[in-house]
Amino acid sequence: MAERAAMKLVPKPWGRVDLGPWIQNKARAAIGEIWYERPHADAPASLLLKLLFTTQALSIQVHPDDAFAQSLGLPRGKTEAWYILSADAHAQVGVGLTRPVSAAELRAAIEDGSIEKLVNWLPVKAGDVISVPAGTIHAIGAGVVLAEVQQASDATFRLFDYGRGRELHIDLAMAMLNPTATPRGLEPEQKRLCDARRPLLSCPYFTLEILRLPPFSRTQLQARPETWILALEGDASFQGVETVTGEAVFLEHETTEIATGAHGLKALVAYASPHVAVDLLDGVRSSAAQGGFSPPLKTGEAISGAWVLTTETHA
Ligand SMILES: [Zn+2]
Repeated sequence: MAERAAMKLVPKPWGRVDLGPWIQNKARAAIGEIWYERPHADAPASLLLKLLFTTQALSIQVHPDDAFAQSLGLPRGKTEAWYILSADAHAQVGVGLTRPVSAAELRAAIEDGSIEKLVNWLPVKAGDVISVPAGTIHAIGAGVVLAEVQQASDATFRLFDYGRGRELHIDLAMAMLNPTATPRGLEPEQKRLCDARRPLLSCPYFTLEILRLPPFSRTQLQARPETWILALEGDASFQGVETVTGEAVFLEHETTEIATGAHGLKALVAYASPHVAVDLLDGVRSSAAQGGFSPPLKTGEAISGAWVLTTETHA
């Protein structure tokens, strides 16, 4: 049975009041993060899904990997990835450093604030995908709305906070990070698996995809490992669980019928697998012969020009 995710609105000084078109903010307070959680507090989840809304730059930080987190008595590390939903002109995110630096040089740069200039800043726009493996120095700039998928962990070591006075964790961060790592860029755009599915990224802990279903369609979705689906545009019923833009559902080891409404559905899908699940949508045939995600079509096999083959459109 699909579970509608509970939504926790987290006020942050760097957040914003207007969360449209994704969320209606009745609180009128500046909200920085929306956390999507399983409705029963003790239900296990290895992934955490969030929306972030920024009006100021967030701290420059790093997260531990599993081994380092466990050496501190924490359950797991934190690898994360971002999908940009909207970005102001000149908005940017920082991932890695622009050049290799020694630990002493990095400490000096934190001390005098010049670390801000060492960060590898990337201009972003809606639709961009950024991978942030544990141990990577990173920051999110102002004017960004993004969906974050991460290992369920709150282990964060802050390196620099623009003098805002919050606690820093420089020694822990220095023990974890690799200051000579090559900077990362935006993830390359992946080929569509079929009209309904575009993989975004796979890492050892999760895979992200964008799902697009046409209006008034019915599609079977097979969730094997833990699967989170966040409605970005439109609305749908997941086996009777009505889900509108800004809401999310949790699925695990189940097949669910997705019935879309008049606007169809665009959704971010995250599942706890390091590989693209070729059979996520039951019976979908691939039109991406060179994509590397699914077997090539046999000679003479037709490629559907319209959506997925299992989708019945009765508009
Ligand atoms: Zn982070």
